[in-house]
Amino acid sequence: MRTLSLALLVGSVSAFGLVPTRLLAVPRSGLGTSPTAVPAEVERWRGGAIAAQSLTFDDSYRSQITTLIPMLDARGLRGTFFLVSEWVDLMVWRSSWDDWGTVLRESGHEMASHSARHQENYDLAGAIQGLTGLNAVDLAYELEHSKAQIRTQLGLPDGLVFAYPYSIFNPTVRAATANHYLAARAVSGATVSATPADFYAIGSYAWEQTHTWQDMIVATNTAIARGEWAVDMIHGCDGEGWSPPASTDYALYFDHIKAQSDLGVLWVAPFGEVVRYIKERDAATVDGQGVHTAAVTSTQPLPPTPVRLTISFPAPAAWTTIQATDEGGQPVPARIVQRNGLPYALVDVLPEAPGEVAEVTVSGS
Ligand SMILES: [Zn+2]
Repeated sequence: MRTLSLALLVGSVSAFGLVPTRLLAVPRSGLGTSPTAVPAEVERWRGGAIAAQSLTFDDSYRSQITTLIPMLDARGLRGTFFLVSEWVDLMVWRSSWDDWGTVLRESGHEMASHSARHQENYDLAGAIQGLTGLNAVDLAYELEHSKAQIRTQLGLPDGLVFAYPYSIFNPTVRAATANHYLAARAVSGATVSATPADFYAIGSYAWEQTHTWQDMIVATNTAIARGEWAVDMIHGCDGEGWSPPASTDYALYFDHIKAQSDLGVLWVAPFGEVVRYIKERDAATVDGQGVHTAAVTSTQPLPPTPVRLTISFPAPAAWTTIQATDEGGQPVPARIVQRNGLPYALVDVLPEAPGEVAEVTVSGS
C-alpha cells in the first residue's frame, strides 16, 4: 500500500500588533487522491465534537475532594475548581493546599479563582453586593491576592480564569477582572454561543438541590442541538455546601456526559481550556485545498498556555490509518474519521508563540 505524507505548519509572525498565524499542509511525497476539493478547516470544538461542556465547581468544598473528584477521575472527565483562596487551609476542615496540589498533579483538573474571601458585602437594603460592594483597593485585593496565592501555592503559570462570587459583577468589576484573568464565569441558565459575546460574562447553569440529573442534561442537549458550550456551576454534594444535590444524581449525570464524550459528540474540558480553544480558533482562518495545501492566518496573539486546535481536511480515500509527528519527532494526536462516507483527517495542532512556526508531519496508508 502506498504511503502518503504531508506537513502542517502552524506559527505566527509578530508585526506591530498584527500577528498572523499560518498553517500549511504541504505534500511530502505523492499527492494521492483527495476525494473532494473541500479546504482544510479548524474544527469548532476539539476532536470535531458537536458541542463543548465544562463542569465547574465552586467554593473549595470538602465533598468535592472526597466524592466528586473521584467520580470525575473514574470517568476520565476533567473539571474546573474555582477556589476561594483564603478559605483553603484557613478552613482546613474544608480543604487544604495539599489537597488541591494532589488533585492538580494526579488528575489534571483546572485550578481557578473564586476571589480571596468570597465577601458578601450587604447594602443598606440587605442585598448582597459581592465584589460590586468593594472600593478599588479591596476589589484589587480580591482579584490579585487570590490569583497570587493560587499560583504560588500550586505552582501555576499566569492565565487563570475567574468566577464572580454570587455571580455578581458590574462594569467596574468586569474591567478589573479583565486586567488579571483570561475569562470569567457568571450565571445565565443558558448555553454559551460558540463565540461568547463577552469572555468576562460567560453564562452557566447553576445546579441546585431541586434539580435532578435529568434537569441538568437539558443544558448538554441544548448545547448539542446548537453546537454551543454548556457550562455547569456545581457546589458540594450530600448535604455539604450551597444547595447540594445527592452524589447519586451526579453519578448519573457524569455517566451521561461521559457517554456523549465517548460518542465524539461532546468535548468535555475545563473552562479555561475551552476559552483558549475559542480564542485560538477564532483567530485562525484557513484557505487551501484539503490534503494538498491549507493555510491558517491569525490577527491575534495566542492566549497564555495555548492548547491544541483540531484541524480537519479530506484524506485520500485509501487512508485508513494516520500518524502525525511534530518537528521534534514527537507524536501528535491524529485520527481518521468518516464524514458522509468520506475519510477525514483530524489533527490536533499546538500553535506556537508569535514568530515561531510549529511543523507537524502527517502520513497515512
Ligand atoms: Zn461561591
